[in-house]
Amino acid sequence: MTTAFPVPPELAGHPYFQYRNNVLYAEDVPLDHLAHGLGTPLYVYSRAALKAAWETYRSAIGPLPVLVCYGMKANSNLAVLKEFVRLGAGFDIVSGGELKRALAVGADPAKIVFSGVGKQVWEMRDALAAGVKCFNVESEGELRRLSDVAQEMGMRAPVSLRVNPDVDAQTHPYISTGLKENKFGIAIESALDVYLTAQALPGLEIVGVDCHIGSQLTDISPYFDALEKLLDLIGQLDQAGIRIAHLDLGGGLGIRYTDETPPSPKALLDQVFERLNARGQGHLHLILEPGRSLVGNAGVLLTTVQYLKHSDARNFAIVDAAMNDLLRPALYDAYHGVQPLRPRAGDLVEYDIVGPVCESADWLAKGRALAIQQGDVLAVESAGAYSMAMASNYNTRARAAEVMVDGSNYHVVRQRETLDDLLRGESTL
Ligand SMILES: *Cc1c(COP(=O)(O)O)cnc(C)c1O
Repeated sequence: MTTAFPVPPELAGHPYFQYRNNVLYAEDVPLDHLAHGLGTPLYVYSRAALKAAWETYRSAIGPLPVLVCYGMKANSNLAVLKEFVRLGAGFDIVSGGELKRALAVGADPAKIVFSGVGKQVWEMRDALAAGVKCFNVESEGELRRLSDVAQEMGMRAPVSLRVNPDVDAQTHPYISTGLKENKFGIAIESALDVYLTAQALPGLEIVGVDCHIGSQLTDISPYFDALEKLLDLIGQLDQAGIRIAHLDLGGGLGIRYTDETPPSPKALLDQVFERLNARGQGHLHLILEPGRSLVGNAGVLLTTVQYLKHSDARNFAIVDAAMNDLLRPALYDAYHGVQPLRPRAGDLVEYDIVGPVCESADWLAKGRALAIQQGDVLAVESAGAYSMAMASNYNTRARAAEVMVDGSNYHVVRQRETLDDLLRGESTL
């Protein structure tokens, strides 16, 4: 294996996507082979990268009583979910649709937790019938509705309250969820009262306490700010005769998109258990709901340069992927590394990488120094999480295909949508 060009530093943190002989590979598959054979835009995932990300959690857990429920909204492709079932994961779901996906790949309902602020009656029924482990309840209204639904079915619904601990996760405002002004959870000051309400409702069984303070956390301290507040609450609940079996700390561990150095699962778990033990709560079972950190760096988005356009102010590389394929830059001003599949010699030019959608927000990357030509294929890095999962059909664009690489093999795990797919279901008067 030789590298004709220096490996771009951005790829150093993504070991399952590497250059060999000046061609970018996913594991043992050259990505240009996939781009030419299957077309672009194309999402490519590495099975080995999924397993490696899982292993960072598994090895950190060891014998500790921790259940990892993959936050599947990050990437809910059935092949990805199936891999996590094989690895022993549970799932954090946020809709009846996600429940259907989890059950479709044979997930154990006893390892499914159901989060989300707007659960509807049918979603509660489906989840109760399936036998999920816990409903993470986010309001008093939801609590009463869930009790009614469970009673109608002759059941008691296992519940945690999602508590909003009012801590600053120090991440982008759109992915910060644990502050007072966010729509999520029940304010920590009201939590005791709402637990007492829950205890009095006949269709409920209190099993835990839950929080999820935000996403792409690169600093570990907000978790401990939240943990201390939740442990205070658990102490109060104990005095009120309400025994808590599990503590759910949500997801949120960040990944490296460019130069971040996010905390590891081990750093998080070691310190969480140290604090639990210090407060005499070492018996609590822990649930984590990681999404991004299990899949984010296990995928790339391949896209072909359609045109290079030079104006006085800017150089644009207009590519065939757009904000409908990858919304994160438009939505969060997010950074994704961009690398050519076959780096070429030549002068570097600073490009804004933009798509064909009719919005100025339709950009994937800005100000990237690249030596590229029309027809070159680029890899947008760290596209395993909140990428295809957020794709839409805006501008009547078919959603991309998805491929899972496994060693020197690959599998198309979602076919590219056709234009007929897009028109199906519509009619004229
Ligand atoms: C989105 C979400 C997660 C996963 O978050 P990541 O930042 O991807 O780890 C976990 N729990 C809940 C309740 C969520 O909404």
